Amino acid sequence: MSGCQYLGPEYDPRTHVGPTPYCGKKTLTGKSYCEEHYHVVYKKGTTVNGKRKEKEVEREIEELKRQQEIEEIENA
Ligand SMILES: [Zn+2]
Repeated sequence: MSGCQYLGPEYDPRTHVGPTPYCGKKTLTGKSYCEEHYHVVYKKGTTVNGKRKEKEVEREIEELKRQQEIEEIENA
């Protein structure tokens, strides 16, 4: 499985017909989700310390993006 595994909020396995509509975008290194959906998924259930968590997630994403860029340069 490659690509973001996020399923939209509309997705319902009981009524859905056809292939599972994964997001499929490039994921963050070591994560199952793309940058956008990592945010979405992570923020769920963190409303109590939402603001601080959000900053932490942003920092983590920045760090992962940097790592990804380094990998891409090394693999070029
Ligand atoms: Zn995604």
